[in-house]
Amino acid sequence: MSTKFDTVIKSGRILDGTGNPWYAADVGIQGGRITRIQKEIDPQFARQVIDAQGLTVCPGFFDSHSHDDVYLLVNPRCDEKILQGVTTNVIGNCGISVSPLSDEHRAEATSFLAVMCGQQVSTEELNIQTFGEYLARLEALKPGINVLPLVGHSTVRIATMGTVNRAPSENELLEMKDRVARAMEEGAFGLSTGLIYAPGNYARTEEIVELAKAAGQFHGIYTTHMRSEGDAEPAAIAETFRIGQEAGIPVHISHHKVVGKQNWGKSVDTLKMMAEARASGVEATCDQYPYRAGSTFLAAVLPPSVLAGGPAVFTTKLKDPGFRAQIVETIESESAAGWENLIKGAGFEGLVISVSRHEGYVGKSISDIARMENKSPYDVIFDLVIDEALGCIIILFMMDEGDIIRIMRNPWTMIGTDGIPGFGVKKVHPRMSGTFPRILGRYVREQGILTIEEAIRKMTSLPAQTFGVQDKGLLKEGFDADVVIFDPATILDQATYEEPNQGPVGIHYVLVNGEIAAENGKVTGATSGKVLRHTK
Ligand SMILES: [Zn+2]
Repeated sequence: MSTKFDTVIKSGRILDGTGNPWYAADVGIQGGRITRIQKEIDPQFARQVIDAQGLTVCPGFFDSHSHDDVYLLVNPRCDEKILQGVTTNVIGNCGISVSPLSDEHRAEATSFLAVMCGQQVSTEELNIQTFGEYLARLEALKPGINVLPLVGHSTVRIATMGTVNRAPSENELLEMKDRVARAMEEGAFGLSTGLIYAPGNYARTEEIVELAKAAGQFHGIYTTHMRSEGDAEPAAIAETFRIGQEAGIPVHISHHKVVGKQNWGKSVDTLKMMAEARASGVEATCDQYPYRAGSTFLAAVLPPSVLAGGPAVFTTKLKDPGFRAQIVETIESESAAGWENLIKGAGFEGLVISVSRHEGYVGKSISDIARMENKSPYDVIFDLVIDEALGCIIILFMMDEGDIIRIMRNPWTMIGTDGIPGFGVKKVHPRMSGTFPRILGRYVREQGILTIEEAIRKMTSLPAQTFGVQDKGLLKEGFDADVVIFDPATILDQATYEEPNQGPVGIHYVLVNGEIAAENGKVTGATSGKVLRHTK
């Protein structure tokens, strides 16, 4: 007798991703899809049976916000994500995608991509011209995870006009629109911006509106690391909604947070602004990672104008004591506007080195290093930026738990790691390996902040709906067999700031398009991920 199913998952409790409570049923999988869900499926019809007695069976998780664009080229399985139950990885965030590049501005673009290279990949290798070429290359590598790509505004801007600090000419704007449209044609799900960073920060709202229109024509989404998540956050949220309204495109606020002690508690206002925008017809959503610390590249603590012209220019300028003095003055002036002052938000003791060629600095704060080296904290930063350009990564302690919980409870908040990959060896932020089990273990089970149904909805059907993926995000007949099987009584993150590369406990199986990608905390080597392409 021929088998009817490749795999049957027996006797689990199904949380289907809608937010409904669990029900008991078996799940039959054939050809990468869920072909049957019913009370009982006879195991003799299955080639393989997974016993899920006492376990929760739910759709695979979406990492709504990742920076694995380069990491996927090195480790196309993306182990850290698979082990967390992530089966779909949204890449191209915060304005940064690997492509499109142009010959003219290639050097500036590749040095900019250092942010995602974990000092493990030479940026010169990233010579991938078009968005479609990047997707094809990824596909040829047979990824172990589904990949959902966005095109980055900063990348498009560099390809067109380098890292100059000015508005584009009319022709340059047309060229940028054209590059966005082409990436959308080639499969991008939308446009992302990183407006605290150079060169994204150099763009005025009007420029973003025009480019968002180009993505909107293809029914894409606009996602943004906003111009401010601190003192000027209300204005940055207003800018985001203006872009959504004028471009006629859904907007998604990336890693929503409130930065800086002086702003703690203001998530009451930010969420109210989002609710009002939604009521007025703006399709607005956001994502979040569940940690009090953020992470980015060290050079991001400098005013973005300092980074104009790329590393070849700014590393030379930073040697000049007069220029250093000017920067210090700008950072310390109360009136600093138009950029995100992360030093003010975190303080030197709150800025901790995460990835650096100076091994002795890793895990130390800027204040610690200043004492060690008998230098001013500013000189520590300038010298590291001269030495490592955009490759030095920091962790910044700057958020409040009350805001994290309030944002988490908000119904249109989904979950994203914002993980900066450490390529399995570097000491990166633990969110890269811990985000999803941390929510399910600490915030659902231990603290009761979310119900498990709501948490799973935020990890599955909500991002699928938001990014426009038709056949993922629910456990439903006809849907792709991306499945997580876990024990809600034991699931927990193990990654810490000290030991960040530790996978979670409590996840028994992760299936990607029907294949078992992880089993009891170990990846299997399955390569059943798909590069998803947006269709209009
Ligand atoms: Zn970001």
